[in-house]
Amino acid sequence: MHNNPENFFDPKQAVNGARFDVIVVGVGTMGAATCHHLAARGVRVLGLEQYGSPHHLGSHGGRTRALRYGYAEHPDYVTLVQRAAEQWRSVERDAGRTLFSKTDALIVAEPGTPMFDDTLHSLELHQIPHEVLGSDDLEARFPQFHLPPEKQGVLDCQAGFLRPERCIEALIELALRKGATIQTYEPVVDWQSDGSGVKVTTSRGTYAADRLIFAAGAGTDALVRDLGVDLVVSRQVQAWFRPTQTEMFQPGVFPIWAVEPKGDRYIYGFPIVDDDFAVKVADQSRLHHTTLETVSRTPTVADGEYLRREFSRILPEAAGTLLTMQVCLYTNTPDLNFILDFHPAHGNVVLGCGFSGHGFKFAPVVGEVLTDLALQGRTTLPVDFLRLSRFE
Ligand SMILES: Cc1cc2nc3c(=O)[nH]c(=O)nc-3n(C[C@H](O)[C@H](O)[C@H](O)COP(=O)(O)OP(=O)(O)OC[C@H]3O[C@@H](n4cnc5c(N)ncnc54)[C@H](O)[C@@H]3O)c2cc1C
Repeated sequence: MHNNPENFFDPKQAVNGARFDVIVVGVGTMGAATCHHLAARGVRVLGLEQYGSPHHLGSHGGRTRALRYGYAEHPDYVTLVQRAAEQWRSVERDAGRTLFSKTDALIVAEPGTPMFDDTLHSLELHQIPHEVLGSDDLEARFPQFHLPPEKQGVLDCQAGFLRPERCIEALIELALRKGATIQTYEPVVDWQSDGSGVKVTTSRGTYAADRLIFAAGAGTDALVRDLGVDLVVSRQVQAWFRPTQTEMFQPGVFPIWAVEPKGDRYIYGFPIVDDDFAVKVADQSRLHHTTLETVSRTPTVADGEYLRREFSRILPEAAGTLLTMQVCLYTNTPDLNFILDFHPAHGNVVLGCGFSGHGFKFAPVVGEVLTDLALQGRTTLPVDFLRLSRFE
């Protein structure tokens, strides 16, 4: 990409006189991955992050993120997970860090529900190794679970978990090695675009570029108000319990799991990972609407009591001492699927947002899509189902 001398933003307005090809707003999960892709393509990229990175004030904190292939949410996600998994392997190699560990993922629900049938369908459609466990098989294989007899299991045999903080550190490290400029503790407060360029104002100054990418997570709504789609931020609590019998909850004997107790909600968790002493558990469907600025970040006694009650019904031996809790944020679109598209009014502004409670695993492929859209105006990756036009 080239600087356009006709640009209406005066490059002298940029701090240090620097002008960039692309500015990325937010260097959390998707922003770090996008900076990595842009820098790898030789583009002059500036990533602007309001906090440090990684951090526990947005959507990526909490030590583990599931990477599963069974996708009840939409079967097209599976192709994207496959590509993301390949890219995570390259990031691991290049950064020289272990980011992913395989553990299998067990989805427990009643046959006939979307969670059971659509998960199974997506695995069958994409020929991903899996097993269907009837209630007797489920009990024999995973005696840790105490479940009603109508529940059955789908075991996703390629699944595992990513270490989110380490993943983001690795992506930033690779982006920096390729020449990206990343500035932390620098919130973006305003931006403007015309057909030929963008201007971004932060707490420290003003920067100019040809293109702008928003990867601002729960901060998107405050920055991009004219999307025409509601982005709802919700407060989610993750809790770490020390099992009374730790050997039953180690990877190898205990998978990542999600159990649908009833209707459209599920509770999920992880085995004991790395040098932890505890299992992590959370309730995906307990949505407390909030904002990035006003969220109560202190977990409460009630948060812990609620999670213990739900968790101990399913996995009583895991629900021992509650060690700690952490608040994390979802940003949901009306259909809970992501938005990867151009801004409706600005062809030089690209958006990646609404990653809900399942976006982390996709970060490298999201970074690739956002980079394709910003640099080429199109992508060959299958993301039509994530376009803004679906809400029209
Ligand atoms: C409890 C919980 C569990 C989850 N479990 C899973 C899972 O198992 N598997 C999975 O795949 N996904 C999971 N997810 C979802 C996944 O973590 C998110 O979808 C993903 O992290 C979203 O990435 P993001 O880049 O949109 O947000 P973030 O990682 O939060 O990044 C956005 C960044 O933008 C910055 N920002 C915002 N506003 C500004 C501004 N004005 N100026 C500068 N910077 C700004 C923020 O500080 C932040 O760093 C989970 C999420 C939560 C909360």
